[in-house]
Amino acid sequence: MREQRDDTIAALATAPGAGAVAIVRISGPEARAIGRALTGVDARPRYAELCTFRGAEGAAIDRGLVLYFPGPRSYTGEDVVELHGHGGRVVADALLARAYTLGARPADPGEFTLRAFLNDKLDLLQAEAVADLVASGSVAAARAALRSLDGQFSAQVAALQAGLTHLRVKIEAWLDFPEEEIRFDAGGECAAGIDALLAELGALSSAARSGAVLRDGLSIAIAGPPNAGKSSLMNRLAGYDAAIVTDIPGTTRDPLREHLTLDGLAVTVVDTAGLRESVDPVEREGLRRARVEVGRADRVLWVVDVREPLDTALAAARENVGDGPFTLLRNKIDLAPHAAEGAGASSGARVGQAGAGAPPVLAISALTGAGIDALIAHLHSVAGYNAAAPGTFSARRRHLASLDNARIRLVAARRELDGALELAAEELRGAQTALGELTGELTSDDLLGEIFAAFCIGK
Ligand code: GDP
Repeated sequence: MREQRDDTIAALATAPGAGAVAIVRISGPEARAIGRALTGVDARPRYAELCTFRGAEGAAIDRGLVLYFPGPRSYTGEDVVELHGHGGRVVADALLARAYTLGARPADPGEFTLRAFLNDKLDLLQAEAVADLVASGSVAAARAALRSLDGQFSAQVAALQAGLTHLRVKIEAWLDFPEEEIRFDAGGECAAGIDALLAELGALSSAARSGAVLRDGLSIAIAGPPNAGKSSLMNRLAGYDAAIVTDIPGTTRDPLREHLTLDGLAVTVVDTAGLRESVDPVEREGLRRARVEVGRADRVLWVVDVREPLDTALAAARENVGDGPFTLLRNKIDLAPHAAEGAGASSGARVGQAGAGAPPVLAISALTGAGIDALIAHLHSVAGYNAAAPGTFSARRRHLASLDNARIRLVAARRELDGALELAAEELRGAQTALGELTGELTSDDLLGEIFAAFCIGK
């Protein structure tokens, strides 16, 4: 059980600055007494009462509504008092200062939601969904965050946990009482159970991946040799002249970053300096930064002139991109309409593969726009983005990592079934721990601190 908080916190719950209404929120054991001292009203639970907020000497600060939500039926699970006054920094600051002298302390970022989590009002997935809902950049992302907040993600994790518990009970009963001859068929029954869980986990992971893309977008680095048309592609995707286009190699020095929406998919595109040998110190620094961006992107778009032989282009891309995923874009198709045909490349209308396990290859013209729609569709597909998918809930990269850990442990458990059952049981326990990190049952305090510190104050 985590430590419960026994002090009282206060913060402005609305955005600071001028506004129609400002809400000061107070939560904790002293909330009711502080509210009474500030308003002179012993507020009835869940009623809005008009009153005068007063300072230390009884001078009026503002006139507004007081609301009292006794715990545990409140957002935080503790006693909560809200003062709804006229919006404006001075009044809100005076109310807060009064609350602090009456015994509250300033709330840390996200501390109201942290308390809700500590008091079991919501699990960690739902708490994170609160922050995602506040920060959502599109209607689809907001809808997805609300689904997570409603517990749709949590419910699927809980179903997996229940399945895992069921399996573990069986295996551990057999390990504890082998002499009692409990009928047990590790090879059949348990293997089928693990397979079913793996299938469920796979579906959940792909839904979560979609949710993570909706929340974070896809990060793309445009890279390649000088003059291949990288800046032109950046401008084509952006729909305006973000980058300088010239036929002088080495023009792009600093990586240029743009946040774009490509048919609903949020992307961050970085245009990097053309990768080539250089002695110019400024260009060399640009190249170093370009390599950093290439290493950190979800996907690299490696742009080459279509007239460059495919094999040479692929080899250069591989050498520069390393193990990361990339797509080869053969640009300037308008100059050589037939150059991209054959050899596994596509005409721009579809994505070509230059052999099994090879990266996708597309032909485009940044100048005329040919093949750009196919490129966007390709990016949707690699991102696993499907805005139309029903029931998409918001998810974070942290969640994808935990789901993947659970999968690895389940696969290992499946393998151990034929041999040492103790090891299989241990792997299943590991899978359960990985899932426990999602909902916060088994999350370290450091990670909790990190998650809630990213919230705004007053949330
Ligand atoms: P970067 O150095 O890779 O960023 O390349 P730029 O975008 O600056 O383009 C280099 C030159 O190629 C410029 O003169 C562009 O106008 C030209 N260019 C870029 N894309 C195309 C294309 O698809 N077709 C043609 N014909 N020219 C292009």
